[in-house]
Amino acid sequence: MVRDLHYAYGEGTPVAVAALRGVSLTVGDGEFVGLIGPMGAGKSTLVQHLNGLLRPPAGTVFVDGEDLGGRGVNLRAVRQRVGLVFQYPERQLFAESVQADVGFGPRNLGLDAGQTAARVREAMEAVGLDYEALKDRPPLALSGGQRRRVALAGVLAMRPKYLVLDEPTAGLDPAGRREILELVARLHRERGIAVVLVTHHLEDVARLAERVVVLAGGRVAMDGPPREVLSARRRGELERLGLEAPLAARLVDELNRRGWNLPGDVLLEEEAVAAILEAVRARGAPGSMGGTAGA
Ligand code: ADP
Repeated sequence: MVRDLHYAYGEGTPVAVAALRGVSLTVGDGEFVGLIGPMGAGKSTLVQHLNGLLRPPAGTVFVDGEDLGGRGVNLRAVRQRVGLVFQYPERQLFAESVQADVGFGPRNLGLDAGQTAARVREAMEAVGLDYEALKDRPPLALSGGQRRRVALAGVLAMRPKYLVLDEPTAGLDPAGRREILELVARLHRERGIAVVLVTHHLEDVARLAERVVVLAGGRVAMDGPPREVLSARRRGELERLGLEAPLAARLVDELNRRGWNLPGDVLLEEEAVAAILEAVRARGAPGSMGGTAGA
């Protein structure tokens, strides 16, 4: 839980930049929250407070009731519970082998070699990496998508209760993006891990999240179910914040402006396809479409 969090980079210097200006937010157990907002809104700054990486002032960030700004807080235990996956997390792989990298966290928790190996296997399997085939390979010998999964496995090896991902699909091709998102959705669904997903893909939020929080100018600007926050009715608000509706929604809007009469609540590609197909069918067989057939 975050309560009235303020943060400025270079605090107390003439070049101070206010990044968060009073953010309050509670992420429920097992909830899937999409965090969106324009560039510079404060998303990365906020998520770095969630596991104490940026140290909050006392009484503003709580994890399961523990005050991360309090004296004597055990940040190591907090970071085990709140797994933070940075942007381009594969850039932080450093060990000589995949298993050494994925096992770094568990080893630091004090697990012995056998327990660490079991955690590494479990985490690699969770992200769809073949343990036996890849454990001894240097991370740098793997493909970009595999390296990202190794980085994700390193966080999962801590068995976090919360998973915070900052643009986890940045720089991946469409297939790689889909794989990572399916993986995150599965972790949420099957293990009940609470997810905070920072992304600029509103369609991903519409598809996966139970709740969407819009950050703008260091404040929470909107907060609610995706179907409400991303609805056509609120599209103006999003656009004023510099956020574009999902492509499928914009396509439907454009067709409606041209006289189609499609439902206004379309957010996903497959919903747009279904709505367009239905409208085309409703126009009837070719013979009834203005006499083009047989002309
Ligand atoms: P977002 O993730 O939404 O793009 P950030 O949290 O990265 O936003 O940035 C919020 C604000 O803080 C922006 O004005 C940004 O320029 C500034 N900022 C971010 N990181 C730093 C930094 N290391 N030093 C100074 N200013 C920063």
